[in-house]
Amino acid sequence: MVRILDINTEFSTEEACFEYLERLRWPGGVECPKCFGKKISRINSNGKTGKPRRLYQCLVCRNQFTARTGTIFQDSHLPLTTWFKAIALVGEAKNEANVNRLKRKLKIHRRTASYLLTRIRRAMASGGRLEIASERTGLHTFRR
Ligand SMILES: [Zn+2]
Repeated sequence: MVRILDINTEFSTEEACFEYLERLRWPGGVECPKCFGKKISRINSNGKTGKPRRLYQCLVCRNQFTARTGTIFQDSHLPLTTWFKAIALVGEAKNEANVNRLKRKLKIHRRTASYLLTRIRRAMASGGRLEIASERTGLHTFRR
């Protein structure tokens, strides 16, 4: 069953996006992406920007990770709020999605819009797992 999500209210904060991603990724509790261990400790730390990072450490292999690790969001410094909105916009506009539209709607630089569009399109083309879709706002998340 598809749950309709309102991208502008449910994903308005970085915290809400992280929680969503974590629930989606680890419905049975946080799991190490490297050794799939379930003994995890949460590290309370703030990133360079002072925002909470929701960082975890595996107590078995010492690997540190967040919900972004191993996803298309991994190597990006952009907030998840921007990513989620971009994904929704691309999903909504399908083939008509373009750099200018993303730039205008998200009020981001052209270079950033181009980066997002390329990554999202590539993930969709490579058969990324479609997790959630609503007819209007279509939020998709996928693994790399
Ligand atoms: Zn581990």
